[in-house]
Amino acid sequence: MTLDQWLKVNVPKTTGWRLQIKMASAAAGVFPTRRDRTCTLCSQRTTRATGQSFCQVSDPQNRAVEQWLTELRGGRTEKEMLRDRQRVDRKKKKAAILNKKSS
Ligand SMILES: [Zn+2]
Repeated sequence: MTLDQWLKVNVPKTTGWRLQIKMASAAAGVFPTRRDRTCTLCSQRTTRATGQSFCQVSDPQNRAVEQWLTELRGGRTEKEMLRDRQRVDRKKKKAAILNKKSS
């Protein structure tokens, strides 16, 4: 079985078609590059640090990305989020151990 045949059987049509395009461009020596998105307001690269749906350069309240995110989360900071997530994970682990013991 060739790769083309295998793709026809095991991969949805559109996905196969996309793969074919990628393989054809790779064969021609063209590889896709990572698309850098830039902010439409300040034309900076949008990253987690500079803000993706928020622009800290043109924010009228002069907030930093982290401040804005904290406001979005209702006052919970990144640290608190992480701590709460770890707490939940620990509880789950504990529960899993207890379940194993009881059964
Ligand atoms: Zn911006």
